[in-house]
Amino acid sequence: MQNDSLPPRAILAAPGLQAPSPLALQDGHGRRITYLRMSLTDRCDFRCTYCMSEDMTFLPRHQVMRLEECLRLARLFVDLGVTKLRITGGEPLVRRDALWLLERLAGLEGLKELVLTTNGSQLERFAAPLARAGVQRLNISLDTLRPERFKAITRIGDLHKVLRGIAAARAAGFRRLKLNTVMMRGINDDELESLVDFALDQQLDISFIEEMPLGDLGHGRSDTYYPSDAALARLQQRFTLLPSTESSGGPARYWRVPGSDSRIGFISPHSHNFCDTCNRVRLTATGELYPCLGHNDATALLPLLRRHPGDDGPVRQAILDTLGMKALGHDFSRQLEAPQVVRFMSVTGG
Ligand code: SAM
Ligand code: SF4
Repeated sequence: MQNDSLPPRAILAAPGLQAPSPLALQDGHGRRITYLRMSLTDRCDFRCTYCMSEDMTFLPRHQVMRLEECLRLARLFVDLGVTKLRITGGEPLVRRDALWLLERLAGLEGLKELVLTTNGSQLERFAAPLARAGVQRLNISLDTLRPERFKAITRIGDLHKVLRGIAAARAAGFRRLKLNTVMMRGINDDELESLVDFALDQQLDISFIEEMPLGDLGHGRSDTYYPSDAALARLQQRFTLLPSTESSGGPARYWRVPGSDSRIGFISPHSHNFCDTCNRVRLTATGELYPCLGHNDATALLPLLRRHPGDDGPVRQAILDTLGMKALGHDFSRQLEAPQVVRFMSVTGG
């Protein structure tokens, strides 16, 4: 039992007696941490309206971790018990030599899942090499199937290029490809059915995400906030949706359409808070470890990494200390008008 007068501490527990056994990383509230989301860059070839400001200033390159440093940190996390690694950004595929890193990450002993989130813009070129590198699954963001609307939401993007990228990912043999759709009232909420039709037709999974108040857009998000329950009710008028107990290890709740293998998920950080089962932490492109997306607490691991090139001990301790301060939960619902998290998603790594 935790003593209330002491601050929470992260622990490393050996789950079995057999040696050598993988360590189990636990935060200060007893949650097992097995999932690291690692951002390779804050840069992106799109400027999605909910994710970035129009005149985004990107980090100077010297502040961004070198790929060798990303690899060293990933290895440390895996040694500590992380079994799933998601590579993200910004747009991870605009990072030069990302494949070099991915090949090496795929070879890390103890890592069970290497997955990547992308906007799809570079997939025509990269889908096959990603599969060869050992990336097991892809999440591809897609908020609309209308070219003009796609341009408006991404400010730059070309829908047809992304659709060709999705086709390339299917052709490369990726299984369980998943679309991520941020739902926005008055912007794309009239397309939920078409997006599900597309997913069913292309044998893809799809997750609908409630917009999170990350970063200051200069206006509130309550006008565009669209809750999962409204989306579900709407989709149930068109599709027979059977609740599924499956989990992809993340916060999505899934439904299935009879006769199809596709899963329809809802990620509902506002309406169905999933913090009590949170198993993840985030590492930014500058090597800052954020134990919770919804809080501003973080530890800068990169200076430690550089100060101790031959000794992982101090960085390992910093990781444990950071997990000890992982908050019990976030409270996005009360921040739709005034975000408390000033970082955009592209900065923390989505
Ligand atoms: N560029 C890649 C992409 O778009 O898939 C990876 C990074 S992006 C930040 C990761 C995911 O975060 C995307 O699916 C995007 O839609 C989502 N995202 C960005 N800002 C968000 C916000 N404010 N609320 C909810 N999801 C957001
Ligand atoms: Fe770029 Fe992804 Fe953010 Fe869109 S959501 S601006 S594609 S990082």
